Amino acid sequence: MARPSALLVALLIALVGACGPSASLSPTQDGSAPIRVVTTSTVFADLVRKTGGDRVIVTSLVPPGSDVHTYQATPDDLRAASEAQLLVMNGLGLDDWLEETLRAASSDAPVVKLAENLEGVELLPGEERGEQNPHLWMDVANAQLYVTRIAEALKTADPAHVADIEASAAAYSARLTELDGWVREQLATIPESQRKFVMFHDALPYFARAYGLTVVGVAVEAPGQDPSAGEIAALIDVIRASGVKAIFSEDQFPTALIDQIARETGATVVADLYDDSLGDDPVASYEALIRWDVAKLVEALR
Ligand SMILES: [Zn+2]
Repeated sequence: MARPSALLVALLIALVGACGPSASLSPTQDGSAPIRVVTTSTVFADLVRKTGGDRVIVTSLVPPGSDVHTYQATPDDLRAASEAQLLVMNGLGLDDWLEETLRAASSDAPVVKLAENLEGVELLPGEERGEQNPHLWMDVANAQLYVTRIAEALKTADPAHVADIEASAAAYSARLTELDGWVREQLATIPESQRKFVMFHDALPYFARAYGLTVVGVAVEAPGQDPSAGEIAALIDVIRASGVKAIFSEDQFPTALIDQIARETGATVVADLYDDSLGDDPVASYEALIRWDVAKLVEALR
């Protein structure tokens, strides 16, 4: 590729200088700077990025590969939260630590809770009595509801660019509709009697409900809570009785426990699913995460 000539560069500099600050080419000076958004997890960061397009600059507080359930905010997080114009979290107990972080950062920026009070969505039970499972986004139709909510918040924060945000959100939502269809096609290749599995933590109940699979059991009630010997024995009995072929865990969790359960049951361990966190390429977006997990499920269960 040809480099711009020194003369051309000099000419451009002269032109920009001559126009003065009021006609600057910098988007930050004509009032159209992108909205600074901070999210708890990398998954929500990707949803915001795809929904807002070039109208947003997004940062996730929890880095890829860390556990959003047990995360401890850092001084850098306080700074990022205090500078954000919009904060995006899941709610339902997944990432409630953000609210404490915001109090500590004295932030009064609006906070969007993606999973709470979504119209038409019936919540599933969570780890403790009276709690609800927070992992709604693993059902692609729910992720589309997240996108709608993100778009509403961005339009409020950036009223000059409502049309851009609506166009970007609609294009992304259309891709998610296509993704949902692909998931159904792929999972249909697993024989019906084998559409069941065990998870390390209870991240896929909405996914299972949407796509016709059964989560036969989970190894831990919640990340950071080890099961008792009795609970492990009960899970092993369930796996043996149901004939489950595979136990799935995620990149960010230790595998000693499920390795032990697998040894005693003969089930296969698949320890690199993604749900609460994105990974490196090729799992660096929400769409890629869903495709990755579905491919792993099909491979292990078929
Ligand atoms: Zn989780």
